[in-house]
Amino acid sequence: MMPAPRLVIDLDKIYHNAHRLVNRLAQRGISVTGVTKATLGSAEIAATLLKAGVKKLGDSRIENIEAMRIGQQSALMTLIRSPMLSQAQRVVRHADISCNTEIEVIRRLSFEAQKAECQHGVVLMVELGDLREGIMPNDLLDCVRETLSLPNIDFKGIGTNLACRSGVAPDARNMAKLTELAELIETTFALQMEVVSGGNSANLQWALSGEEIGRINDLRLGEAILLGCETLYRQPLNGLHTDAITLAAEVIEAKVKPTLPSGQIAQNAFGETPVAADRGQVTQAILAIGRQDTDPDGLQAPAGTEVMGASSDHLILESAGDNLFVGTEVTFQLNYSALVRSMTSPYVAKIMKQI
Ligand SMILES: *Cc1c(COP(=O)(O)O)cnc(C)c1O
Repeated sequence: MMPAPRLVIDLDKIYHNAHRLVNRLAQRGISVTGVTKATLGSAEIAATLLKAGVKKLGDSRIENIEAMRIGQQSALMTLIRSPMLSQAQRVVRHADISCNTEIEVIRRLSFEAQKAECQHGVVLMVELGDLREGIMPNDLLDCVRETLSLPNIDFKGIGTNLACRSGVAPDARNMAKLTELAELIETTFALQMEVVSGGNSANLQWALSGEEIGRINDLRLGEAILLGCETLYRQPLNGLHTDAITLAAEVIEAKVKPTLPSGQIAQNAFGETPVAADRGQVTQAILAIGRQDTDPDGLQAPAGTEVMGASSDHLILESAGDNLFVGTEVTFQLNYSALVRSMTSPYVAKIMKQI
């Protein structure tokens, strides 16, 4: 018996998605950092991405990098979230590069790298409008100057991150600004930067559009590889699998019930006061999965069924047919939020599939 609920992770499809993106971007002079933060440090997925040609692995959590390091001694790994001061020692030991926005943190990385007798690479993230992480462009040269002066720190380049907090789309204007900053740094300090990292899956449309690429030579891609879609409008990407990862859950109750609750309506388990419409009798199934295991709003139910609600441990599914018996399994596609929640839930089994 297969355990339920479970994520089924098709490594061949992930390989295909990564390989295709690597090749298409290579034609534009851009390499791929494969972002693994939704995969809980999975050794199998890390190995698959590297086999498909990603140049580096990127993760936002040092715990995941430490987990992937066990199977990948020599792969380049970038911590893509600014390190906590309290984790600086672990960061220099296990990550080759980190993305940074605070000189205080880079000083601590330098201190810890000296103690560990190693070098640590630094990419400086620049704020270009999305208002999440990033150094203000006017402060960038000062930050580069001090970074260059710090022992055991290798200044690798710059990067930016858009479309995460405010939904600012990467375009000709903000990407040209990043190129302009790259050139300013290179002329000011008479150096050549290794990395100019333009952004995440939201940059694909821009990167593949034929638009001038400038100095951008890296994208950090997670969702596009794992879920096969771009992230500005969540459209499937041409030739990529959108079902490389699916979620299966088991029916524990199947009954015909009214759609209108009976009794006085107060708050439900999550403090909401639901309003129900009377749609007569429906076929309703309960699946043994809930908010502890996934983000119910991020599940795409199979044709003919619809997710109607969820509590911590129960998911309510309505079905047009009468095929949802007790013990039946239902398979969902997931969005990024549902994927991350399921990956990090200890109640959800992770099954790797490879031919
Ligand atoms: C999560 C993240 C990425 C990858 O984003 P996707 O949308 O999954 O491609 C890239 N860069 C940073 C800094 C991130 O936090």
